[in-house]
Amino acid sequence: MKNNEWNRREFIVKPILWAGAARVIGKVESLLGNPVNESTNGAILQRTLGKTGITLPVVSMGVMNADIPGLLRRAYELGIRHFDTAAGYQQGRNEEMVGNVFKEMGVRDKVVISTKLPSRNFPSNPAESKKRFIEGVEASLKRLQMDHVDILYHHAVDSVEEARAEGPLAALQSLKKEGKTRFIGISTHKTVDVLSEAIRLNVFDVALVMLNYTMAHDTGILTTIERAANSGIGIVAMKTQAGGTVKPDPKLPKELPPASQTALLKWTLNHEFVTTAIPGFSTYEHLEQDFAVARSLSYTNEEERFLADKSFTAETEFCQQCGECRKDCPKEVDIPVLMRSHMYAVQYRNMGLARTTLASAVPGLDACTTCESCPVICRNTVQIARKIAELGVLSRSEMVQ
Ligand code: SF4
Ligand code: SF4
Repeated sequence: MKNNEWNRREFIVKPILWAGAARVIGKVESLLGNPVNESTNGAILQRTLGKTGITLPVVSMGVMNADIPGLLRRAYELGIRHFDTAAGYQQGRNEEMVGNVFKEMGVRDKVVISTKLPSRNFPSNPAESKKRFIEGVEASLKRLQMDHVDILYHHAVDSVEEARAEGPLAALQSLKKEGKTRFIGISTHKTVDVLSEAIRLNVFDVALVMLNYTMAHDTGILTTIERAANSGIGIVAMKTQAGGTVKPDPKLPKELPPASQTALLKWTLNHEFVTTAIPGFSTYEHLEQDFAVARSLSYTNEEERFLADKSFTAETEFCQQCGECRKDCPKEVDIPVLMRSHMYAVQYRNMGLARTTLASAVPGLDACTTCESCPVICRNTVQIARKIAELGVLSRSEMVQ
């Protein structure tokens, strides 16, 4: 009994007294009618994206795993208004698909389109880096067949140095000034460090951050995101379902029940400082299931039972990207990026994304070939050695196709 009480207190987020929305500057631009922050009659729940003033349904679409144009059309029909893509997804084909769909539908002015560009391999010279960034965004706009996007993110910024890098910052600000993007954002897996720097820099309108139930006890992450929201930065949540329906360990039963996905999405969205989430569904069934959450954030009994069962956090082995394990590797391999790549390959079944992510690890998997088995231990629940061994096998087979 005592244990149950503890579980219930820990996993169910009480509505948070959060005044951020009241401090939103400027007019509220709603794409669906009046903003709704509490859905009592089955209306689509909407929130305002920080200082952008845009109001969005709490469930958006992360397009990265989708390759069916009809899925985007159906998402729009259901009420989704924010679609998130990136220059690197499907080697640019993802942006092309987004562009084609909304051009054909003639609803460009009714949707919020975000895209993202990383700068990790750009020259260190700020002027050259700025030029490369602008060229990259021009190429994205061409693929999207748009003269502007609504949110342009500096993508996968995983250090404070990257966040404050002069070249990309100057590019983002100049692109905003020219009207090539309405708002600028930063996406990161290193929430505490990078988001704190973003607050200090005071130039970003939006932040795309990881938030899911496996982080429930990480007060550092939760308070940093809330602080960013209170500063006026609109918060978009990713990785909300901690890897989706598939468990990563081949020895475990693979599929999780549908209630697991809605429970996890609700958990994230029950933090009111999150404006919207971008689940990466790739089927019609998962689209309908995820979007149903936008009409009610109350947990069903089944969802409560799922969240109360702590085996999920251990079995899903979600890498929090804390980077603590890197210190234990003699070669300082970028283990967090390797773990992300494993999640994309095994749980998202998105080999393209897994491959490009793996290629961005420096030092990467090549450095691991001299170790018989990885001795590094995760501070959380990730079985690093097993995943590195599996990545080795994958990289020699499907991932290199
Ligand atoms: S396998 Fe070796 S090189 Fe690779 S992460 Fe582990 S300790 Fe580092
Ligand atoms: S594997 Fe573990 S220690 Fe390493 S970054 Fe991920 S959560 Fe942190």
